[in-house]
Amino acid sequence: MIRKQQIIQTAIKANIIDSNLSAIGIMDFDGLQKTVSDAYAAFPNNFFHTFAVKANALVEVLSALRKYGMGAEVASPGELLLAKNAGYDNESIIFDSPAKTLNDLRTCIENDISLNIDNLQELARIDQLMQEFPNTKSVIGFRINPQIGGGAISSTSTATATSKFGYPLADGNNKQELINIYQQRPWLTSLHTHTGSQGCALELMAKGIGVITELAEEINNQVGQQQIKRLDIGGGLPVNFSSEEVKPSFADYAQVLKENVPLLFTDKYQVKTEFGRAIAAKNGVIITRVEYTKNSGGRHIATTHAGAQIFTRTAFLPKSWPIRVTGYNAKGIEKTAETDEIIATDVAGPCCFAGDLICVDQQLPKLNPNDYVMAHDTGGYYFSNHFDYNSLPRVGVFSVTGKDDNLNISCIRKADSFEDVASKM
Ligand SMILES: *Cc1c(COP(=O)(O)O)cnc(C)c1O
Repeated sequence: MIRKQQIIQTAIKANIIDSNLSAIGIMDFDGLQKTVSDAYAAFPNNFFHTFAVKANALVEVLSALRKYGMGAEVASPGELLLAKNAGYDNESIIFDSPAKTLNDLRTCIENDISLNIDNLQELARIDQLMQEFPNTKSVIGFRINPQIGGGAISSTSTATATSKFGYPLADGNNKQELINIYQQRPWLTSLHTHTGSQGCALELMAKGIGVITELAEEINNQVGQQQIKRLDIGGGLPVNFSSEEVKPSFADYAQVLKENVPLLFTDKYQVKTEFGRAIAAKNGVIITRVEYTKNSGGRHIATTHAGAQIFTRTAFLPKSWPIRVTGYNAKGIEKTAETDEIIATDVAGPCCFAGDLICVDQQLPKLNPNDYVMAHDTGGYYFSNHFDYNSLPRVGVFSVTGKDDNLNISCIRKADSFEDVASKM
C-alpha cells in the first residue's frame, strides 16, 4: 500500500481534488505495464493479447496498452474509433459485437479488421461482403457458445444454454451445420469463445476453450487441411476484489489451460486473448472526499462524491461487485485502528437514491469530513464507463507513473465543468 499512499499524497499536493472535482480516477501506468508483461510472460509466443476496450475506453490508457504490446478488442463503432485514435493498426483490432450493423461489417472487411460472427444472419451479410472484398485480410470466425453453464454472477456469465452471445453449439444439429458452413467457406479461419467473465472458475473457462479447440481439430480434419489457424479464447479472467493480491494470476490461468487444453501450448494455433478486467482493475483507484458524516440508527455514514454514477455495478448489485475501501486523512495519511476508532460504516455517494452506497456496514477507522476514501481495484468498468458520461459531476481521470517516492501525475481525461455538461444535455 506504500505506492497507494504516495499516489493519494501526490494527488492532494497537486490540488486535483477540489470543489469542482470531488471524485477522481487514477490509473497507475507503471502497474499496467507490469500487468501486460506478466500476461506475456505467462504464455508462450503463439499467444497474442488484446485488451477489451469496454473495460477502460480512455484513449491514453489504450495508447499505453498498445505500446506495452497489446491489440484491441472492440464491440462498437465508437470503441473502434477510440482504438484507432489510440494508434492501433487495423490488423491488431478484433471487432466483437452481437449487433454489428451492415456498415460495421463493411468497415471491418474493407479495412482488414478481424471479426467474430455472432449468428447466421450476420454470416449471410458477410457472404455478400466477401464477394465485394474477396482479398480482405480480416481474420473471420464464429463466436461459439459452448453452452456449458454459468458462474457465480449471472449477468456476466456468457456460456449458459440461453446466452444472447454467439452460435449455440450444443443445440440440435448445430455442430454439424457449423462444420458444413466452414467447409464451404475457406475464408473462415478462426474460432472464438468468451466463457466469462467475473465469477467464472478457471476450469469452466478452460472447458469452453477445450470445446472450440476440439471443434477446430474436427473441422480441420474434415476439410483435410488446417483451415482454422486462430483460436480466440476471449477474456474473463476473474479479479480478486478482496485484497491487494493478484489472484488468480495469469500464470495460474496458464497452468489450468495447459492441463486442460495442452494443444494451445504447441505452435499449431495462433491463440488470441481478450482480457479486460484482469489488465485494468487492479491498476486503478477512485479517490473521493468525505463531505459530511452522520450517525443514523447506530451506523456511521460518510457521504462522498462517488456513488452510483461511477460505482453503477456496485450500487445495483452490491453482493456481486463488492468494493474494498481505505480511509485517509486530509493530508493523505492512511487511517488505521491506531489513529481512529473502528466503527461500522456505510460509505455513501451523492445521488438521491438509497442504494447509492460504495460499501455497507464495513468496520472502518472512523471517517470525518475532509478525509478521503480510496476505492480499490476500480481501473476497469468504473470511471471509464459509459454510464457516467451524462452524470454531474463527471469524474476527472489522471495517470501516475514513476518511482513510489517521485510520482508524476497528469490529467488524462478532463472533467467538463458543470456549465459545459449542462449546456449539452
Ligand atoms: C467483455 C468481454 C471481454 C473482456 O472480459 P473481462 O472479463 O473484462 O476480461 C472479452 N471478450 C468479449 C467478447 C467481451 O465481451
